[in-house]
Amino acid sequence: MSSVYTFGVRTGQASAMIDITSKVQDIIEDSGVKNGICIVFIPHTTAAVTINENADPDVVRDFLMEMNKIVPFSDGYRHMEGNSAAHIKSSMMGFSETIIIEDGRLLLGTWQGIYFTEFDGPRIRKVHVKIIEG
Ligand code: ZN
Repeated sequence: MSSVYTFGVRTGQASAMIDITSKVQDIIEDSGVKNGICIVFIPHTTAAVTINENADPDVVRDFLMEMNKIVPFSDGYRHMEGNSAAHIKSSMMGFSETIIIEDGRLLLGTWQGIYFTEFDGPRIRKVHVKIIEG
């Protein structure tokens, strides 16, 4: 398997965490790869990816609330596009995750999900997925 799979994410708010676990799992199933690693990569500078709890939706609410306190939307930034907070938050989260594939499934913990994290929405975004068999 050498191809890169890409799918779109439409975000509806300035800040959002969108669970993309099932989309990534579907790509793994379509690939036919049973064992290997999966890399999820976000080709943007104001959106990112992270892995965290996807059972209680209040985790997302608390997460975004605290991110906005740590990096406020306005704080005397100079970047003329006006979205410095989104650039900083995205680098804090990071732009890729690597997940083990075992028996055709993402080897995530019971409470873990893969989140696309939007910090400068609403926008239409891309997610790249690379699967390496092994
Ligand atoms: Zn910018």
